[in-house]
Amino acid sequence: MPELPEIVSRANEMRQALTGKVISAIEVLQPKCLNVPTELFISSLQGARILDVCNHGKWIFVETTQGYLLLSLGMGGEILLTTRARLPEKHRLIFDFEDGTCLSVNFWWFGYAHYAPPGELASHTMTARLGPNANAVSAGQLKEMLKGQRGQLKAFLLDQSKIAGIGNAYIHDILFLARLHPQRKIDTLSEAEIEALSKVIHDSLQFSIDKGGAFYELNLFGEKGGFVVEDIIIGYREGTACPVCATPIEKLKTGSTSSFICPQCQPLVK
Ligand SMILES: [Zn+2]
Repeated sequence: MPELPEIVSRANEMRQALTGKVISAIEVLQPKCLNVPTELFISSLQGARILDVCNHGKWIFVETTQGYLLLSLGMGGEILLTTRARLPEKHRLIFDFEDGTCLSVNFWWFGYAHYAPPGELASHTMTARLGPNANAVSAGQLKEMLKGQRGQLKAFLLDQSKIAGIGNAYIHDILFLARLHPQRKIDTLSEAEIEALSKVIHDSLQFSIDKGGAFYELNLFGEKGGFVVEDIIIGYREGTACPVCATPIEKLKTGSTSSFICPQCQPLVK
């Protein structure tokens, strides 16, 4: 499932490659991924010039002269810059450009391609209710956001309405590097622990962004991301030795998700 590093990488690639292109035609093979009727979606974006691409959490925002195209890959998918002659076998939407290239969008399971008219981005409830991008939250902001919270740390960090972009791929190493247990009660965190957590969130996400995201996602040109299995420190490494203290990594059930921790480095009670 793509998380912030993969989505930031896609948005960066799309900004560089797509800005200035004009959408000449749109083909929709999966109308249920849209938020408006197919004809309205097509007529709204046909003829639009792409101005910029950015991300909010796991959503990609394509800003055009005629409003926004908002893409969410859900569990995963491909956004590929290609041509009609080289279309991938699986695609749900095709955006043709005036220069003869096209953007092919595929969702592995289910995703969204939404339209927001100019000036109405704030009314798009699915993105309007997201918290700030995880890689843009300062230590001071994180302290403010955690103030008064009584829940468990991991649940907070995965709650996209609180802080957007972290999922169950990167969370294990983030908590390990911050030496914090996923079920740690937020109101017991010290200022120093929150500062360390903030730094680790930034560093971990940026490390993967610099590598173009995780290997299980393809970039805009069909190449795998450079963040490989060996870059994962303790996540999904149950039974292997902790790189710090050699204690075997444990897998825990934490609510609806699994967690991987070093019980020595990440004690629950301090
Ligand atoms: Zn350890």
